[in-house]
Amino acid sequence: MQVQSPPTAAASPSPQPGTVDFERTLNAEVLQSLFPVSLVLAGLYTFYTLSHLREGMPYSGWLAVIAVTNVVAFLILALLLRRQRLPARYAHPISMALTCGMLIHRFSDIFFTGLPQHTTNLIILLIGVGYILLATPWLIAVIVLTLGGWGLLLLRAADPTLWLEYVIALGAATALSFIIHFTRRQALFRHERLLEQNTQRTYELEHQTLHLATLTEVSQNVNALLDLDVLLNHVTDLIQERFRYYYVGIFLVDESKSYMVSRAGSGKSGSALAEQNFKLRIDQGLIGQAASHHEVVCVNDVQLDTRYVKSVLVPDTRAELVLPLEIGGELLGILDIQSERLNAFSEVDTQVFKSLADQVAIAINNALLYQSEYSRRMLTEMLYEVSYALSRTLNLQEVLDLILGNLVQIVPFDRGSVMLCQEESIEIVAAFGFPVGSAPTKISFPITRGDIFDQLRELKKPLIITDVRGRPDFQQVKGLPEARAWMGVPLIDEAQAIIGMFSLTRETPTAYTEDETTLALSFAGQTAIALNNARLYSELANAYAQLERIDHTKTDFIAVASHELRTPLTVLLGFAQLLIKSPDLKDHAMHRPMLDNILKSGTRLKEIIDTMVDMARIDNRTLEIYADTLALSSSIKAAVAPLREALAERRLTLVIEPLEELPLLQGDRDELVKVFYQLLINAIKYTPDGGHISVAGTTFAAGYRDVATAGVEIIITDTGIGIDPQHHDLIFEKFYQTGQVALHSSGKTKFKGGGPGLGLTIAKGIVEAHGGQIWVESPGHDEEGCPGSRFHVALPLKPPATLALPNKATQNGGS
Ligand code: ADP
Repeated sequence: MQVQSPPTAAASPSPQPGTVDFERTLNAEVLQSLFPVSLVLAGLYTFYTLSHLREGMPYSGWLAVIAVTNVVAFLILALLLRRQRLPARYAHPISMALTCGMLIHRFSDIFFTGLPQHTTNLIILLIGVGYILLATPWLIAVIVLTLGGWGLLLLRAADPTLWLEYVIALGAATALSFIIHFTRRQALFRHERLLEQNTQRTYELEHQTLHLATLTEVSQNVNALLDLDVLLNHVTDLIQERFRYYYVGIFLVDESKSYMVSRAGSGKSGSALAEQNFKLRIDQGLIGQAASHHEVVCVNDVQLDTRYVKSVLVPDTRAELVLPLEIGGELLGILDIQSERLNAFSEVDTQVFKSLADQVAIAINNALLYQSEYSRRMLTEMLYEVSYALSRTLNLQEVLDLILGNLVQIVPFDRGSVMLCQEESIEIVAAFGFPVGSAPTKISFPITRGDIFDQLRELKKPLIITDVRGRPDFQQVKGLPEARAWMGVPLIDEAQAIIGMFSLTRETPTAYTEDETTLALSFAGQTAIALNNARLYSELANAYAQLERIDHTKTDFIAVASHELRTPLTVLLGFAQLLIKSPDLKDHAMHRPMLDNILKSGTRLKEIIDTMVDMARIDNRTLEIYADTLALSSSIKAAVAPLREALAERRLTLVIEPLEELPLLQGDRDELVKVFYQLLINAIKYTPDGGHISVAGTTFAAGYRDVATAGVEIIITDTGIGIDPQHHDLIFEKFYQTGQVALHSSGKTKFKGGGPGLGLTIAKGIVEAHGGQIWVESPGHDEEGCPGSRFHVALPLKPPATLALPNKATQNGGS
């Protein structure tokens, strides 16, 4: 089989492994031609010597000895050459030396006359030179010069009796020249042939070296390549780069095991085939032959093979080599090599590429194993990410976008959407991969009996359409690139109802695989959870909004009612105060205590109503702070004053540490008095008789407890029943009371005395309106052990400008 001619761009310069052999053969060739030449020369020389003797020309003794010696030496040389005893390295110099000797001999006795024996001198001289040079151009020179010499001699001494001798001498010289010429030519031909053989062998060697290098490189590299696409492209590129074939491609068996799909290709058309995912039935063409019979197919002239299927993308293919890629008898794909030359593939090529194909098959298998492992890991990671997002955010759009964004990484699609069923239609709620400006969330389709979604709903399983062109009921969206392959995955809620689907579109008819379906199903599960969460959240949000509305109505009612109650109560209290001063009633035994009770209860009622008004104001965010410069020590004194009686009654000691040193601050005096009053009355209420209450103050720097500027902190500590840490925040919520409210005593300063559960809420509202913070510390609630509580109020030296209003005195109306 003929092999491809040497590549134009071989990877490395070729070595010269045949050089030694070639030289030896060439020498043998020259030696062969030396023998007849030497023989003829010896004969000619003998003839010349004899002719001289016959003519009886004066001939000195020593010249005769030289001549005879030369003749003998020539004969010995011819004999040795004949028997091939003489190595080339001796034969050449010896024959040169003899020729030179002969020439010297002739030079010393040269005559330029018309006599034939003298002419022979010249001929011998020239033949000798030609012999030394052994070159074809000299032969022509010899003949030309000889013929010229003859012409001259004939002109000068044309004695017809001597013509025979002339003719003999001329014939001998010409024959000799021709012998030299033809032996030389033969040697040259053989030389050429040898050169060609040498080139051929060098090329074969180079080709094999390339094969081996490629094989080694493939085996070294491919096993480290775990990305299937990178691996396949690497192999095809490497073969292409090394051997300059017309096309090198790899086809892999598809899921259905009935097609071979082009996965990688190099050369002019290879990438085009791979990009188009060019497909061949598994029994089609030479590839099909190799795939279905698991055998190497080598066709050195595709036009003569009826199985060959011509592809428009590789129209110039003349020879093709197809090698199955199999592992353990299982076919993974084929390696396809095509050449534009006839007879491009030798036996050696086939063998070497077979080993290469075996290596590649192992690497593909590794990459496939890794890929399935990798996608499993990816799936786990992505599902984790999605479920983390589900637990972290209630933003449905964010979760759906994340789901589609993750899904596309393991189930490639061009456009994907989450579609939800409405009454009669199905519409997109989240989309991925849609062209900019296509507004996918405005896309919806009516649901009709028997259509694709209806079918999916019936199936309750994913539906794959390999090419939607075969489904006239598939609704293409105007203005979007045409959909070709499609997968629908149902979204099933807890009640097993189909609430929507994933719609995943590919713009090429590349079918989705079973694996991809399974992956998409896992994501569909997450999507159903996200949708369910969103539904629950929106229900909750609705309920909350409704509650807020109710609460608002209640606050409004409290505001109105308390306001309405306050006016008649003020009148009642006013008249009661007038009555108590009247002389008739002032000391009346029966009416005076009644009036006292009316006044006391009325005042208590007024306090409660005031609290409710404050509460409503805080709730409606209408509490206004009128900042004035004040010393907290005076606010605390003002708060303590009405409580002195209760403290004495309950035998509670109150220690107010010196607060006069504290810096002055900007605040609403009346409101701050309410804060401290509330904290002190609580301390009284929740500390058993004989307990201890203290008030201390300190300063703090900006940033403490999130208070923007530096300020003053007041700490009210009691030795009371304490508060469970889990209630520390809740007690500041309105109406929140710990313990059983029914068990509270009714007196407002009695131990565990009753209250509406608004005190701390109002205190907090006022403190925050000043830009401050209020909080409690207490180890826990224990009515026996009385661990005590410690309330902190941190106020900035100046309330933030956004909260404070100008001085109350300058305002009309006030609180
Ligand atoms: P109430 O009108 O019930 O006093 P508050 O809002 O003033 O309402 O207080 C809420 C709850 O916080 C009280 O019911 C009480 O359980 C708890 N509490 C407030 N101050 C103290 C304190 N100094 N010691 C123990 N518990 C307290």
